[in-house]
Amino acid sequence: MYLSKAFNRGVPLCRSSVLLIENLKRHNRFLSCFSAVRFQCVNESREEHTENEGNPASEFYDIVIAGAGMVGTGMACALGHNKMFEHQKILLLETGSKPTYSDDQPEAYSNRVCALNPQTVQLMEKIDAWQHIQEIRTKSVCRMQVWDACSDALITFDQGDLTISVAHIVENDVTLRALSKQLEKTKVEVQYNTKAKKIEFPSKVDPSAWVKIQLENGKFIETRLLIAADGNRSKIREAANINHIGWDYDQSGVVATLMLSEPVENTVAWQRFLPSGPIAMLPLTDTLSSLVWSVGHDRAKALVSMPEDQFVDAVNSAFWKEYESHEVVYTVSNVVDSLLRFVKPEGTGIRQLPPSIIGVSDGSRARFPLGLGHASYYVKPRLALIGDAAHRVHPLAGQGVNLGFGDVMSLTSILEEALSIGGDVGSMLHLCKYETERQRHIVPIMATIDGLKRLYSTDRPEVVLLRTVGLKLTNAIQPLKDQLMTGASS
Ligand SMILES: Cc1cc2nc3c(=O)[nH]c(=O)nc-3n(C[C@H](O)[C@H](O)[C@H](O)COP(=O)(O)OP(=O)(O)OC[C@H]3O[C@@H](n4cnc5c(N)ncnc54)[C@H](O)[C@@H]3O)c2cc1C
Repeated sequence: MYLSKAFNRGVPLCRSSVLLIENLKRHNRFLSCFSAVRFQCVNESREEHTENEGNPASEFYDIVIAGAGMVGTGMACALGHNKMFEHQKILLLETGSKPTYSDDQPEAYSNRVCALNPQTVQLMEKIDAWQHIQEIRTKSVCRMQVWDACSDALITFDQGDLTISVAHIVENDVTLRALSKQLEKTKVEVQYNTKAKKIEFPSKVDPSAWVKIQLENGKFIETRLLIAADGNRSKIREAANINHIGWDYDQSGVVATLMLSEPVENTVAWQRFLPSGPIAMLPLTDTLSSLVWSVGHDRAKALVSMPEDQFVDAVNSAFWKEYESHEVVYTVSNVVDSLLRFVKPEGTGIRQLPPSIIGVSDGSRARFPLGLGHASYYVKPRLALIGDAAHRVHPLAGQGVNLGFGDVMSLTSILEEALSIGGDVGSMLHLCKYETERQRHIVPIMATIDGLKRLYSTDRPEVVLLRTVGLKLTNAIQPLKDQLMTGASS
């Protein structure tokens, strides 16, 4: 404490004391948290600040959220609809222009969709956005079937009753539209076509030093807390000097809206692991499904530009083509099946066949580069990263935006708690709780997704054997499956 005060006031200290403080700051963030602790009346400190700083051109906000994608808009909605924040001045900044929505339901389905998990649906319900999503359109998924192309191993996820949803497929535009509609009912100010040109973070941990932002339109703003929701290439993360670990998978995700060859009760999400990458088909209607196919960049380019009939053949073949199983894999797999039949005579789940496709909606084919990214820190004094700005994952587990909405829930409740005790929302005392809570949840999920991506990117017999046995056992052990489902939906 003494050392911390002395350090913050610039009192000369011996080299070992400085090193000790630097280390504690870096590794524990204890001193940073500690020196930021000061309970204060929110409005008082705002007035005090404007008087002291006296910069008439700069406008003060309690919270600024940068990035009005799904996660940033979700964050703005969650704060705007929470009574605790009704006296807080909140701003949402977005580089892009204001999206325009017609009152009618869009006829064509967008090629960008996400499988929203039950926890995300809960958040949407809490901020009353779910009713708008349902009014526009969403499709329930009651079962997921995931299988290996190199063996007969498969795993299914459902709630036992095939009328209960395990996820909902929603177009990203629909989610954003519903959130924007709810945001209009709040006092949150939104500025489009704006972005930060220069950001200055407080140079030392000082409870009365704010983040100063110079916007491209020449305006200056200051804030107690900046929330960066500006996507995986976050400029704010960069400006804050937060270390970011990441790599490209040398793969693109090819997306498209697929036409099924005949109407079916389309409530199953299908994913097949091919050695070249996973292919997934998510239900949209009884005759349409959405494709996410991970392939090498060259193959992706070819898939997006080839004639429609060739593309349809390629998709059908990816789901249906039989791959020859290695003899050892085949034998061990049969032994595992016999053992499982002995332990579980009722069987371990029915293998269903995916629907075949007959066409693809005009102009719906596109590709997106895939990669992994993780910020070493999600917070620093007066800054919190959320969504893809903090973590980016491969879409094979449909987790990306769900993790981002998880950040929204966690940060909202931690900031709410801070306000309820008269605390400072930008203080590390509170922000560190957010970082710890989210990193504990997200890091194991990211490692699992990356591990799965690697485990299934090969047809080497010993690896196929390992994953075949693993998948079959996991599918047979219901408590383990339940745990996986709970983990993926929270
Ligand atoms: C092919 C594919 C399929 C996917 N499928 C799923 C799925 O099934 N389920 C799932 O959960 N996830 C899925 N994802 C991941 C999901 O799409 C992302 O996790 C999600 O879109 C990230 O949202 P975000 O709001 O954090 O970032 P973004 O969507 O990148 O939004 C960032 C916003 O910030 C704005 N911006 C950028 N810089 C600034 C700035 N300096 N100031 C102000 N604004 C700024 C941008 O204009 C943008 O509007 C998929 C991803 C891909 C590529």
